[in-house]
Amino acid sequence: MDKASNDAEGVKFYNRDEKKGVWMRYSQMLLPTRKETPAEAEVISHRLMFRAGLIRKVAAGIYTYLPLGLRTIRKVEAIVREEMNAAGAQEVLMPMVQPADLWVESGRWEFYGKELLRLKDRNNRDYCLGPTHEEVITDLVRREIRSYRDLPLNLYQIQGKFRDEVRPRFGVMRAREFIMKDAYSFDRDDASAEVSYQAMYKAYTRIFERCGLRFKAVEADSGSIGGSHSHEFMVLAETGEDVILSCNRCTYAANTEKAVSLLPETGEPHKGGAVVPTMEKVYTPGKKRVRDVADFLKVEEKRLIKTLLFETDQGFVAGLIRGDLELNPIKLKNLLGVNFIVMASDEEVKRLTKADVGFAGPIGLPIPVIADPSVMSLHDAVCGANETDYHLIHVKPERDFEVSQVADIRQARAGEICSRCGKGTLESFRGIEVGHVFKLGTKYSEAMGATFLDETGKERFIIMGCYGIGIERTVAAAIEQSHDEDGIVFHESIAPFSIEIVPVQMKDERVVGFSNKLYGALTQKGLEVLLDDREVRPGVKFKDADLIGIPLRAVVGRKFKEEGLVEIKSRETGKVEEVLADEVVEILESKVSHD
Ligand code: ATP
Ligand code: MG
Repeated sequence: MDKASNDAEGVKFYNRDEKKGVWMRYSQMLLPTRKETPAEAEVISHRLMFRAGLIRKVAAGIYTYLPLGLRTIRKVEAIVREEMNAAGAQEVLMPMVQPADLWVESGRWEFYGKELLRLKDRNNRDYCLGPTHEEVITDLVRREIRSYRDLPLNLYQIQGKFRDEVRPRFGVMRAREFIMKDAYSFDRDDASAEVSYQAMYKAYTRIFERCGLRFKAVEADSGSIGGSHSHEFMVLAETGEDVILSCNRCTYAANTEKAVSLLPETGEPHKGGAVVPTMEKVYTPGKKRVRDVADFLKVEEKRLIKTLLFETDQGFVAGLIRGDLELNPIKLKNLLGVNFIVMASDEEVKRLTKADVGFAGPIGLPIPVIADPSVMSLHDAVCGANETDYHLIHVKPERDFEVSQVADIRQARAGEICSRCGKGTLESFRGIEVGHVFKLGTKYSEAMGATFLDETGKERFIIMGCYGIGIERTVAAAIEQSHDEDGIVFHESIAPFSIEIVPVQMKDERVVGFSNKLYGALTQKGLEVLLDDREVRPGVKFKDADLIGIPLRAVVGRKFKEEGLVEIKSRETGKVEEVLADEVVEILESKVSHD
């Protein structure tokens, strides 16, 4: 033990007593706090992570983590690692640079789109920076796994990803380079895969609880990763990019990309089986929008059929939805099993309908038509005539037109009735997706030939699952949820330090001497302590302490000199306790819970 280092004028920056790190004296640490915020910082977590000296931008969506930021990231990683290990997963480390061949095999080289950053080596071979690792891990497993005896298996890593996001923003929350924990499970059958999925679901719940987050696990769309079934872990925050619908009576909760609700009533007058008059074409000059057509024809919007045209990688398709409702293109995309879907351009709409935009209808369209059930339950409806300035009235689905498929492609909305319990109302929340668990089935094992031999010697495809957590996004989401006007309020489990010691008068030998002693004693106990030994005004120290948000602050100042008392302040509650200098180590130690 290097005793000298705890003395007032002792070794300043290399201290072997400081068991858990060596840069804990503020004066020696790169901890540049700022008053101003970058112009592009739209959300509070981005502003605070910059101001508190956690991150600095290198390029759009690419950041350097300064010591304080890295310590927090390491805390989250440690929690993730512990829970993954506890759930039986084994850590590996895969490369960031991945050969294109594997992506060609899985079929994603063509379809992943521009988020995949592609590069060539000196021999002109294609590579990409890994946005995710299904290909690399499936390649590993197909080589190493032979028999059912080798299964189940769960492998994970905590590693840098690159996604060339269209719109990197919100600091590290939607970055281009970021750290992900990604895990992959391999099972022999669906029952075993379900057990693996549930184990990850539970581990995620533990992880986000330990990080001190308020979150909800919701049913989700599977996106470009593919697969059949998934849950997202959403941190509830106003600034979240995702919208969640959740039932106020039962446990149902889903991303709006996926959510379903009971079909809102049409209120269409019940005609008691009355015969719907023959379909008729009417002149509706310049009436293109649902509301204008409804007003002009004096019918309710819910009696209209909206016809929306989309372009996909497998051609054009039309979607039908009732006039007062919205079509959900992600549901349509999943239904069709296509890789991309966009609204058809005005030119394409004109070409396909032979009419101006605004007059499309299902009758006579030369492309597949998918109808939402809301449309098929109409009796006497209005739709576009595929002729400029004309609509059709008295349209009866099935009698007057057929569709390729009827399926739920409706966007569920807040206020609608829950389809699971049939009683509750859906409420909407905004959320930040911090984790995602997927059942992949055999998507990758079939594409890449990852098989095992079962008990009977039969070769079968491995059932896979994959599970991601955004490490920095978790930190940012935590700050989004826990801050005040003065700065970050770190939850103890992910705080870069547990305790900050603030000696107020740096010229006073007793204050400085005691602060150093306290610092030495606490670090020797294995606690993570930041000592603000800078020669600056107390106001500056207090402001910075509030900004960086260390959970406990021990102030050694006037009270110490006059009465031998140290002030312990909680960053979260603002509560101050005055304790005897002799007892401060013990009291602080007891306050830092050992999670
Ligand atoms: P999003 O819909 O937000 O783009 P995703 O569905 O593409 O996310 P996944 O592929 O499921 O994300 O990745 C797993 C986790 O990685 C996400 O839950 C999220 O926490 C994190 N993540 C994804 N994209 C980013 C990003 N651009 N920056 C930071 N973290 C990210
Ligand atoms: Mg994404």
